[in-house]
Amino acid sequence: MAIADEAPVVIAGAGPGGLTAAYLLTKRGEHPLVLEADDVVGGISRTVVRDGWRFDLGGHRFFTKVEEVESLWHEILPEGDFMLRPRMSRIFYKGKFYDYPLKAMNALRNLGLKEAVLCGFSYLWARIHPPPDESNYENWLVKRFGWRLYRTFFKTYTEKVWGVPVSDMPADWAAQRVKNLDLTKAVLNAVMPKRNQTEITTLIEEFQYPKYGPGMMWEVCADKVQAAGGTLETGARLSRIAVERGGARSVTYTQGGRTHTVPASHVISTMPMRELVHAVTPPPPAEVVAAADDLHYRDYLTVALVVPEARSFPDNWIYIHATDVEVGRIQNYGSWSPYLVKDGRTCLGLEYFVFEGDAMWNMADEDLIALGTKELIALGLAAEGDVERGYVVRVPKAYPYYDFSYKANVETIRKWIDTEAPNIHPVGRNGMHKYNNQDHSMYTALLTVENIFGADHDVWTVNVEEEYHEAGSTGRDAPVLPRRDAAPAGTLDPG
Ligand SMILES: Cc1cc2nc3c(=O)[nH]c(=O)nc-3n(C[C@H](O)[C@H](O)[C@H](O)COP(=O)(O)OP(=O)(O)OC[C@H]3O[C@@H](n4cnc5c(N)ncnc54)[C@H](O)[C@@H]3O)c2cc1C
Repeated sequence: MAIADEAPVVIAGAGPGGLTAAYLLTKRGEHPLVLEADDVVGGISRTVVRDGWRFDLGGHRFFTKVEEVESLWHEILPEGDFMLRPRMSRIFYKGKFYDYPLKAMNALRNLGLKEAVLCGFSYLWARIHPPPDESNYENWLVKRFGWRLYRTFFKTYTEKVWGVPVSDMPADWAAQRVKNLDLTKAVLNAVMPKRNQTEITTLIEEFQYPKYGPGMMWEVCADKVQAAGGTLETGARLSRIAVERGGARSVTYTQGGRTHTVPASHVISTMPMRELVHAVTPPPPAEVVAAADDLHYRDYLTVALVVPEARSFPDNWIYIHATDVEVGRIQNYGSWSPYLVKDGRTCLGLEYFVFEGDAMWNMADEDLIALGTKELIALGLAAEGDVERGYVVRVPKAYPYYDFSYKANVETIRKWIDTEAPNIHPVGRNGMHKYNNQDHSMYTALLTVENIFGADHDVWTVNVEEEYHEAGSTGRDAPVLPRRDAAPAGTLDPG
């Protein structure tokens, strides 16, 4: 079934979700219109280019269990542009590198005999006197590792990533997702490495990566979309979707200070759900708007610092558990791809997890670069004078925030769309307020395009109960968190 209407499919966002939809539509002979608010494509998966340095927002591994997505990657990008990269990421704590997931022998060696014995006693104590209430994540972890190891390897990093005390996080998400982790298993893993390796589904040892970073995939994809008759408008923010006669009929966007209204046969949206609901005209019922306003986000910023190659480390990234610095993770872009860095130097991406509008978010770029430099030196990862230059990138809404009400809120919005405007299709990460990676975001777009042509997929089942994420407190899995309005005043995301 071709799209009956003369009007194009309008796509909000040129990230992985939006561009996948556009690419697949052009393959079916359609001429979609892609509106991208930013000046560049790729969304959160873009590669930032500054003075010839290329870096990710975080680091974007390409791995998937979805065959259609895997084939799409290789259809879009020529084989020679994809590299297979080894994955290494360790915990950096008190000047030492700890394997992740923790390996007993390596941890013992690093901790030293005295601290290891203390951790052992602390673990035994927790086994004999387990915390009475295991419903919060702190007690859940303490029971499995003891207080001492919990404080060293879980508490600080988890709190840096999510911005709430671990003791306020419910444990049930962890019980489902991190089910195979405890100290006894970690020790067995060390003694009999083969035995537990398949049981702990936390690591992907190798991943694919485009030579020039993930943005390369999306830049090439955008070119292909345009070559096949699609239109891409950058600097174009979709601000209004007119809904009448049972569906979306037109969209309005602003670009360069001018407003344009164009007809739409379907709207595929990767814009944040909250923004989508507010764009709909006339406004949906009050409970739908309230549900949208009650969706929250964790935001993120990265400080990329250019340092001598001698400061490089083999890890793609390291987790920073030290309590005396704010940085949560440090990416080494030279380890991701030699094509991202220049001779004799590497670029380290210091990652800070923040709330939009908080003190760190509002710091001037020079101050953030100075803070990053100071913290790198304090950690012993650089010396005075090593940092040649720095760049700051802020990423609002990097993580959909999973609190106790998010599911009900998403459901309310979804039901309204299904009944009142079924030709609006939320896809992707913020589009569905779901902790989707690139592959999930692409897959939701792929299924949506098939639906537009008559299929009946339930796009919302993508990335439900997937097992291959990293588990534990790595920041790549999403715990359920206390409500954002319970957070201290002044830290709420404003928009
Ligand atoms: C720190 C970090 C690390 C990650 N690591 C990985 C990884 O290793 N592997 C992996 O596969 N995934 C990773 N991800 C996830 C990945 O970034 C996302 O899954 C993916 O980018 C989502 O694609 P999307 O198209 O749904 O949304 P986005 O990438 O968010 O793109 C949405 C686009 O829509 C645009 N937009 C928003 N509102 C409007 C509007 N009103 N009008 C027009 N345009 C609009 C935005 O500017 C943006 O370009 C990571 C994410 C983060 C935050």
